[in-house]
Amino acid sequence: MNRTLRLVSPLVASVLGDAAAVLAPVSCAGCGRADRALCDACRVQLAVRPRTVWLSADEALEPRGALAVAVSLSYEGVAARVLGAVKEHGRTDALPALAPAMRSALLRAEALCDGRRGPPLLAPVPSARRAVNRRGFRPVDVLIRRSGRTARRRPLLGLVRETDDQAGLDVAARQANLRGAMRASGAVDRRDVVLVDDVLTTGATLIEARRAVIEGGGRVVAAACLAYTAKRKVTGR
Ligand SMILES: [Zn+2]
Repeated sequence: MNRTLRLVSPLVASVLGDAAAVLAPVSCAGCGRADRALCDACRVQLAVRPRTVWLSADEALEPRGALAVAVSLSYEGVAARVLGAVKEHGRTDALPALAPAMRSALLRAEALCDGRRGPPLLAPVPSARRAVNRRGFRPVDVLIRRSGRTARRRPLLGLVRETDDQAGLDVAARQANLRGAMRASGAVDRRDVVLVDDVLTTGATLIEARRAVIEGGGRVVAAACLAYTAKRKVTGR
């Protein structure tokens, strides 16, 4: 009897795993249909559409010129739902579907570095501690890893104070909310840096990140974002 139980235990674990999959079939993170992590129709919607957004903050506040942001997807429809599923519902099984878009944006941003200061460092913008605690992971870090690029283990950018949720704030309020909120590590000193975020909305986060890198002695050559909100003006390739 005991022997049977011992033999059965690993089997039970395996069968329970299968049973769990049957009871809660995987649904498409883009449309909710019972399917794989992402159905074929939704996968097509995540095809990379490379664009560059030129971010120019208020010249009075930010006289350092426009920042090139390489983006891959329009943040709407399937792209918005899949990223939301990853970030808010822990659907990390859908991450591979976003990896090509993130990789494309990173490679295009990195290519804007002339290499004279060595290869650029990837600097994910920091997430609020509340969000990290809620999710248990940092979406931008995971996106970078899945895209096959490498960011340093020790974050280059951190928050020196907690910030309010940016959602619902207008451009000026977002900038005020974030101004002075970030600090760069000493590792950026005399290095070229590519800022990385998941979604570009007003650009306030990237502007603050750039300020922190410059203060730390680094130079921001470009930024890379998985997606941009469609209301932003973009240039062609
Ligand atoms: Zn789908």
